[in-house]
Amino acid sequence: MKKKLIAGNWKMNGGLAANEALVQALRAGVGAPACAVALCVPAPYLAQVRELCAGSALNLGAQDVSVHEQGAYTGEVSAAMLRDFGVRYCIVGHSERRQYHGETDATVAVKAQRALAAGITPIVCVGETLAEREAGHTEDVVKRQLAAVIHLNGHCISEIVVAYEPVWAIGTGKTATPAQAQTVHALLRAQLHAASEKSDRIALLYGGSMNAANASELLAQPDIDGGLIGGASLKAPDFLSIIAAAR
Ligand code: PEP
Repeated sequence: MKKKLIAGNWKMNGGLAANEALVQALRAGVGAPACAVALCVPAPYLAQVRELCAGSALNLGAQDVSVHEQGAYTGEVSAAMLRDFGVRYCIVGHSERRQYHGETDATVAVKAQRALAAGITPIVCVGETLAEREAGHTEDVVKRQLAAVIHLNGHCISEIVVAYEPVWAIGTGKTATPAQAQTVHALLRAQLHAASEKSDRIALLYGGSMNAANASELLAQPDIDGGLIGGASLKAPDFLSIIAAAR
C-alpha cells in the first residue's frame, strides 16, 4: 500500500518566533510517522523552516510557484529557487489563488509543469464552489480542472499529487462527509487511471476543514490517500493527531 501524505498549508500565517515554536513542537511529537509529512510555508520562511526540519520526518513545501522560469517578473518565485531551498512539494491551483489571483486551469497546468521540471512534486488542488455543487456541476468542474493538468503533463502525470478541496469546506468548519469526499475521489482516480498506467502511485488528498476529530474517518476511505490541512496545521497537537490517524 502506498504511504499516505499529510501536508500542512500554513497560508499567510507565521513569523520567525511562531514558526520555531510550531516546528519544534512537531519535531518533538512526530517521531517516525507511518505517512509522509510536509509543511507548505510562506516563501520568506523556506530557509528558516528548512533548517528547523533538518534531520526530521518533516518535508519542506511551498504554496505557489511562478509560471515563468526566470527573468523580469517582479515578485515571482521560480521552481528553481524553490528547489535551491530543498522544497519537495509545492501546492498549485489552491482555490484561494484561483479566486483572488485569477489563476485559470491553464495557469495551474503550467505551474505543475514548472514544479515537475524542477523535481518538485506539485500538489494540484481541484474543487467546486458551493454554487457549482448545488447546480450539480461538481463532477464537471473537478474533471475539467484535472484534465488541464493531465493534458500538459501527461507523460509524467504519475509524479503529481492531487488534492480535492471543495471550496465550500475550506476554512469554514464544514467538512465534506466521508462519503461525499470518497465519491469525488473515485471519479478523480478513474480519470487518472485512464491517463496513466502508473496512476496507482498518485496520492489523492482531501482538504477542507480536516481536523483531529474527523481525520480518521476521512482517511479510512478507500480513495483518500492523505490530507491537505489549513487551520489545523498551525496547532501542533491537532496536526500531530492527524498525522497519527494517517496509517
Ligand atoms: C486549505 O487551505 O488547503 C485547507 C484545507 O484549509 P482548512 O483546513 O483550514 O479548511
